[in-house]
Amino acid sequence: MADRFQAPRGTADLLPADAAARARVEATARELLERAGYGCIETPVFEDTELFARGVGASTDIVRKEMFTFEDKGGRSITLRPEATASIARAYLEHGMQKLPQPVKLWWYGPLFRHERPQAGRFRQFTQLDVEAIGSDSPLVDAELILLCDELLRILEVPELVLRIGSLGSPETRAAYRPELVAYLRDHETELARDVRDRIDENPLRAFDSKDESTQAVMAEAPTMLDRLDGEDAEHFTAVRRLLDQAGLTYEVDGTMVRGLDYYTRTVFEFHSGRLGPEVALAGGGRYDRLIELLGGPSTPANGWAAGIERILLAIGATAEERPHDVFVAAEDSQRERALALVTQLRRAGLRTDLDLAGRGMKGQMRQADRVGASHTLILDPDGSIQLRDMRSGEQRVVQAERVVEELITR
Ligand code: AMP
Repeated sequence: MADRFQAPRGTADLLPADAAARARVEATARELLERAGYGCIETPVFEDTELFARGVGASTDIVRKEMFTFEDKGGRSITLRPEATASIARAYLEHGMQKLPQPVKLWWYGPLFRHERPQAGRFRQFTQLDVEAIGSDSPLVDAELILLCDELLRILEVPELVLRIGSLGSPETRAAYRPELVAYLRDHETELARDVRDRIDENPLRAFDSKDESTQAVMAEAPTMLDRLDGEDAEHFTAVRRLLDQAGLTYEVDGTMVRGLDYYTRTVFEFHSGRLGPEVALAGGGRYDRLIELLGGPSTPANGWAAGIERILLAIGATAEERPHDVFVAAEDSQRERALALVTQLRRAGLRTDLDLAGRGMKGQMRQADRVGASHTLILDPDGSIQLRDMRSGEQRVVQAERVVEELITR
C-alpha cells in the first residue's frame, strides 16, 4: 500500500466538530469590532518578501528564521505572511487611506505562517485576529484598542486573564537609551545566550525576549526603556494608564516587554491567561508610529493588536461539539426522489435536515437518524403517506404532506 500523507509538521486540520467553537470566536469578534467602527479588511496570503524584511525588521526572529520564503516562477521572492500588520499598512498606503478621516480602523482575520518549533499552542500555520487603528497618536486609541481586546477575551470567558503593559518610548528616546543597554549587555556578555550576544549591536532590545534562563536572569536587572521615558513619552504612557484605570481595568506594568517585532513605539501590551502560563501570550500589540514611514509613506502614527485564535480556544478549553439535526427524512426506495424534494423544502424553511445518501434500508435509515441526533424523523411510505416520528417519545403518527413543514416548525 502506498504511504499515506499527513498534514505538514506544525499544521493541523480543522474538523467539523471543532469548527463551531472557532466560528463562534470569529463571530464574536466581528460583532464587537463592527460595533466599535472597525471595518473588515483582507489581504493576500503572500506578499513580496521585502515588505516583511523592511516592515517586521531584518533582525527579528520572524525574518531571520521563521519565514516561508520562496521564488515564484517569475523569479520574484515571495513570502507566506508571518504577520498581518505589515500587509495592512501596505494596503493603507496602496489604497490612499491616508486621505480618509483618521484614524482608519480595520480588523483582519486569517491564517499566518511561521517556521517555528511546533509545541503546545505554537504552530507553523495559525490563525490571528488583527485589529488596527492607523492615523492617530492619541492615547485614547491605545486605550480603546486595549479595552476592546479585554472585552473580547472576557466575552469569550478566557479564565485568569492578565494584562501587562509597557512603553518602548519613541525612536529618539530609544536611541538615547540604547548605548546604556549595549554597555550593560557587554558587561554581562559571558552570561548571555549565543544569539543574544551576536545581536548586541544590531538589536540589543531583543535580549529581553530571550527564552534562555541565564539571559533572563541578566535581563531582570537590566535598565529598561520604561525607566528612561522622556517628557512626551512619559505623558503618553501616563495618559493611557489613566484611561485604563478609569475603565476599571487591572494591569501589570512591565518594563521588560519588548514584543517580537521591531516596529513598536511607545505603548506595548500583552494578554495572558493563567491557564496557559506566562510564556504564552494570547494577544499582543502596541503602537507602531514609524511603520508606515518605513514602508515609504508619510509619517503616520498607528496602533494595533493581534490575538491567536488557537490559543484562545486552548485557554477556554473549547471542546468538540456535534450539532444535532432537527429532522431526518427516511424513505423507502420508491420514495427517494420525493425525499430529496422534501428535504430541500425543509432546509429552505430553516430546519437542519438530512437524508440517507448511502442506500441504507429502512432500519439502517432509522439508526442513522438516531446517530445524527435528529429530534424528528419523517418516514415516506411506499403508498405516498408520511409519518412523523418524535425520536424522544417514540410517538409516531401520519401527517398531511402539505402540513409537514408547518408542523415541524411549530415543534
Ligand atoms: P505576535 O504577532 O507574535 O505578536 O503574536 C500575536 C499572537 O498570535 C500571540 O499572542 C499568539 O496568540 C498568536 N501566535 C503567534 N505565534 C503563534 C504560533 N506560532 N502559533 C500559534 N499562535 C501564535
